Amino acid sequence: MNNSTERKITIAIDGYSSSGKSTMARALASAIGYRYIDSGAMYRAVTLWAMRNGLVAPGSEPDVERIVEGLPLIDIDFLVDGQRQLTTLNGEVVENEIRSLEVSNCVSPIAAIPQVRHAMVAMQKAMGRSKGIVMDGRDIGTVVFPDAEMKVFCDASAEQRASRRFKELTDKGAQVTYQEVLDNVKTRDHIDETRSEGPLRCADDAVRLDNSDMSIEEQNRWLLDLYHQRVSQS
Ligand code: C5P
Repeated sequence: MNNSTERKITIAIDGYSSSGKSTMARALASAIGYRYIDSGAMYRAVTLWAMRNGLVAPGSEPDVERIVEGLPLIDIDFLVDGQRQLTTLNGEVVENEIRSLEVSNCVSPIAAIPQVRHAMVAMQKAMGRSKGIVMDGRDIGTVVFPDAEMKVFCDASAEQRASRRFKELTDKGAQVTYQEVLDNVKTRDHIDETRSEGPLRCADDAVRLDNSDMSIEEQNRWLLDLYHQRVSQS
């Protein structure tokens, strides 16, 4: 439970694709009464916009020039629906579409475009101005909130992450194979780690968590304990 007299802090949770960071981050934000932002959803929404406008397709290079030109036309926001946060693109709820494997297959090259990153990072910094926020992504502890009081970097084996993602997708009825999901996870890791702007890396002052063998309850408890430590130190 959040004690309203406690000083609000900024919490950055980064890590590899499907490392369970969104689940942990959302649960923590809900437990302590903070705002939760899934920064990956923002890159996914830009990607969906580019796909709908014929500027990228699985297996082909994105049309960088036209995507950059289109950035001012893209309005991304979040609607709160009980415990869920629904991503909107120009006013339309696109939460389900942005989670598809097609979007996953196109997102990392688009997230590597420096102008796309600058636009998203500026929005993310503005969202965190008054603290009391949990944000997850790839560059939150390194670029978006380098001064965050609490930083976590999540990892798990690629196979473990792909199994989780495969289950999530097939539970929703998607027609995908485990191998397709594993290939996607590995390709995204590689593009995210090797891009020039905001590459995926663990901040020097982040606490690393390998959650391969942890249950969701164990992860949530671990994160909440770390939060209490950080708040008492800040
Ligand atoms: O977190 P999620 O897997 O939904 O993110 C989708 C993609 O968006 C990632 O594979 C990565 O390429 C990109 N991303 C990013 N920086 C962030 C969050 C996500 O580049 N802060």
